[in-house]
Amino acid sequence: MTGWFRCLLFWCLSASAWALTLDGKTRQFDPTPAIELLEDPSGKLLLSDLERPEISSRFRSMEHEEGQLNLGFSSSAYWLRLPLSRSSSASRDWLLEIAFPTLSEVDFHAPGQPVVLTGSQRPVSSRPYHDRHIVLPLQLEVFEQSYYLRVQSSQNVTIPLRLWQPDALRQQRSQDLLLQYMYYGGVLSLAVYNLLLSVSLRDIRFLWYSLFATSFGLGMFAGNGFGRLMLWPDWPEFDAVAQGCLLGLSAAFAVKFARAFLQTRGRMPRLDRLMQINGTVLLLVSAALFIGMNSDLVVRLGSKAHIAAGMTMVLLVFTACWRRSRAGSKGLRFFLLSLVVLWGGAMVASLRMLGWLPTNLLTSYALQISSALEIMLMSLALADVIRHERERRERAQQKALQSRTRMLEMVRTSEARLERVVHERTGQLEVALQHEQEMLEQYVRFGSLISHEFRNLLGVMESQLSLLRKERERGIDQLDKRLAVLGRTTRRMSEMFERWLQSDRLAHSLQSMQCQPLVLQEWVEQVVEQNRQVLGSHQVDLQLEIGQRVVAADPSFLDLALGNLLENAAKYSPEGTIITVLLLSRPDAVGIAVIDCGLGIAAAHHEKVFEEFFRVAPESSQRGMGLGLWLVRRIVEAHGGWLELDSELGRGSRFCIWLPTDRLEPGI
Ligand code: ADP
Repeated sequence: MTGWFRCLLFWCLSASAWALTLDGKTRQFDPTPAIELLEDPSGKLLLSDLERPEISSRFRSMEHEEGQLNLGFSSSAYWLRLPLSRSSSASRDWLLEIAFPTLSEVDFHAPGQPVVLTGSQRPVSSRPYHDRHIVLPLQLEVFEQSYYLRVQSSQNVTIPLRLWQPDALRQQRSQDLLLQYMYYGGVLSLAVYNLLLSVSLRDIRFLWYSLFATSFGLGMFAGNGFGRLMLWPDWPEFDAVAQGCLLGLSAAFAVKFARAFLQTRGRMPRLDRLMQINGTVLLLVSAALFIGMNSDLVVRLGSKAHIAAGMTMVLLVFTACWRRSRAGSKGLRFFLLSLVVLWGGAMVASLRMLGWLPTNLLTSYALQISSALEIMLMSLALADVIRHERERRERAQQKALQSRTRMLEMVRTSEARLERVVHERTGQLEVALQHEQEMLEQYVRFGSLISHEFRNLLGVMESQLSLLRKERERGIDQLDKRLAVLGRTTRRMSEMFERWLQSDRLAHSLQSMQCQPLVLQEWVEQVVEQNRQVLGSHQVDLQLEIGQRVVAADPSFLDLALGNLLENAAKYSPEGTIITVLLLSRPDAVGIAVIDCGLGIAAAHHEKVFEEFFRVAPESSQRGMGLGLWLVRRIVEAHGGWLELDSELGRGSRFCIWLPTDRLEPGI
């Protein structure tokens, strides 16, 4: 606006408008208020017709409409009259810029100069000045002259005008180009970046976004006049629809992207269907524009359809986004913000195209500015979504890891438990097995004992009977002798059985043991006396001097125990050797030791001799059942005492029954 003040305002009141005189200091200027406008609905008026008073009087002033020469979609032709002059100090050469490159036809009539016929539907070579906008050179005079512009367009008619000094325009253009290249460079790099992301992440959303950014950038490229200037200079028909086609295409890709981004198909199928239809409409309109680019009607209707479909798209995408964010989806704030920004820009641009908003720097570049912001925000939205997805994945992984760890712990615990149980069971089994083995050994011992003892006796009986038979055949009578032997043998057998049964009975009857105080010395003397016959030719040495020690005992059982020890001492030591019976005294117990100078017992058998049916030498001539010591130990333990063995092979044995003296009632 500074130009406005620097301009020498010299307004001449003419028939209907002010004349504008430019001074030497003005570098650029908006001449719109000085314009007079005539609408020619038929489009048939010629320059010469304008001189006619009835036509000339139809020009109306734009005095109060600075920057607002937006005439919307119209098939009329418009005539603009611009009365211009310059001060004597001002330059003669000026440039008139029309910053709206999609105007189909622009005819410029400057006094004394050939008419310029240009516009988007005419070749680029028709432009007198190489620029993305239509720029018309003027040669101003110091006196006022009227310049005429005739504009007609199949698109909306917006005629933003500006007068420039040539070097001022050049300067502005270099700045503008820098910004434009930055914008397109940014869009291009984002498009390529997202394309690469779509390949590396195998995520279709990035592809749709890349296609959207590419087509949008190209649309803007076309809309800003660069496409025409650089890409399709000889294709004015396409240039007229290029922006619409490309932006329509970008909107269709935006719908694709939004559907994928917001996952509308699975979450809101009805809305998704509408979006799908909307996207298809956008595509079809773009295709129709492209195919019917030569038809004014198609272009006009297509442009309006595009705006309607574009707004519907924004509405649908907004709704989807709002519903997703209400459903608690994260990562949508940037998406929503980018939509708001783009929507705002598109609204501003659309309203400007419809002529409801003035054309100025902001409204002209609204779409470009908003799209730059939108593309940036959308990238952030994508990054945000990736972040959220990664976090969700990490959380899921964490959960999976935790449950795996828990499972592992459980498995480990149950393994340990199982191991413990197996260990316990193995222990129990080992004990049971050992017991079984012991039992088996016992039975084997019992079997071998029975077979040995009884086989001997049965052998004796058989030989006696055979002798008896032979003697009878020969008439020899020794029946008494044979019967006597047979009698002794059978007695021996029954004795053995009796002994076995007795020991079993005794072991069981220990539970009903009756204890009474027993004066030890007297009792030992009695037992030795009772067993005199068993001791045979052995000499007995009694060493019983321990005083009046009394124990609690059942004499009938204890008799048996001591009797057994005496019998063994006699059995397993040579005839005539000494057997010592010794009483021992300790503060808490008394001991009855039986010592012989016989065979002795190897250390390996010291424990075993107390087992049932165990005999060190089962084949020996000494009769026995391996039950004596087993019974003795049980009797002694039933009295709360213990049995000691001290023996060496070949040097004799010493068995000692220890009985506690502090027990009046010994347990069993
Ligand atoms: P048995 O005398 O009927 O065989 P025991 O249980 O009394 O059964 O004795 C078990 C085994 O211990 C005997 O067969 C014998 O080999 C050994 N034994 C017992 N007492 C003596 C001893 N005083 N001297 C040597 N060996 C003995």
